[in-house]
Amino acid sequence: MSKKVTKIGVLTSGGDAPGMNAAIRAVVRTGIYNGLEVYGIMRGYNGMIEDDIFHMDNKSVANIIQRGGTILKTARSKEFMEAAGRQKAYENLRKRGIDGLVVIGGDGSFRGAQRFSNEFDIPCIGLPGTIDKDIAGTDYTIGFDTAVNTAVEAIDKIRDTADAHDRLFVVEVMGRDAGYIALHSGLATGAESVLIPETRTDVEDLISGLTEKEKRKKLVNLVVVAEGDEMGGGSEIGKILKNRLPNMDIRISILGHIQRGGAPSCQDRIIASRMGYHAVESLLSGRHNVMVGIVDDKMHYIPLDTAVKEKQAFTSDWLKIIKILAS
Ligand code: ADP
Repeated sequence: MSKKVTKIGVLTSGGDAPGMNAAIRAVVRTGIYNGLEVYGIMRGYNGMIEDDIFHMDNKSVANIIQRGGTILKTARSKEFMEAAGRQKAYENLRKRGIDGLVVIGGDGSFRGAQRFSNEFDIPCIGLPGTIDKDIAGTDYTIGFDTAVNTAVEAIDKIRDTADAHDRLFVVEVMGRDAGYIALHSGLATGAESVLIPETRTDVEDLISGLTEKEKRKKLVNLVVVAEGDEMGGGSEIGKILKNRLPNMDIRISILGHIQRGGAPSCQDRIIASRMGYHAVESLLSGRHNVMVGIVDDKMHYIPLDTAVKEKQAFTSDWLKIIKILAS
């Protein structure tokens, strides 16, 4: 029987994602509702090591559900990778009596949480907070929907100018080594082709497809490339296409960090709120060292180490749909 938690800490770690604030709000208010003391930990695991920890009340999370970024700030912590860093972090939690932790972040952050809870007697709950959607055991990750909508809005604008000038734009979107943002935004914007790291990019096939469309005067405006595509992302693909298709007016656009910020979408606020609530419920009910996800619209719990080992199932038929719809 696990011991009952009384004081919990919440932190955001790794890359920021819109909706993290909504998740923090849900954790804090659900914790307080259940009689827990809740502490905010600044800058991810760094705040634990440097003792940058503060007591939170309901007011601490007022007026943040609609804000991008994270009020707790986020960071990557080299020190937490070392045993000495984690020991320091543990001592800072112990001196306050913090006996449960909610970590909002990506797979790296979960790896840290798993290690920490194996070494010390502090149960950790992970909430998937990443725009990349590269975590198994959940249909949604906090921030992905907002990032995709931002990408779609930007690509629609690029399409206007591409159309006006009869240009082909190679647009690079984020996603680290995952292609979900590219796949979703490419399908939603009617791209000719979407290049992602999950499948080998066939440049010859891409070039012959574009050439064939050019011959029959089909307007081709957009190729969407994931930054982690094994060919080297948008710049590399753009260079190859410019070399091989000199008659085409080809431009490259790297969307970059605009995809991280901004007000979270309705969907991200909702999943963040549900996940935050269930993170606290999990700690209270003794369900420890799991990630809280949502599968088929129901809460889903998987061990943290499984969440980091497995990749989210990849919907390969989408590439076929993209190709057919762009024909
Ligand atoms: P994300 O959570 O977005 O995937 P990172 O991969 O940068 O981001 O991980 C965030 C932080 O989690 C790292 O800076 C580090 O402090 C911690 N972390 C990652 N992997 C480990 C590990 N194997 N052991 C301890 N801490 C880790």
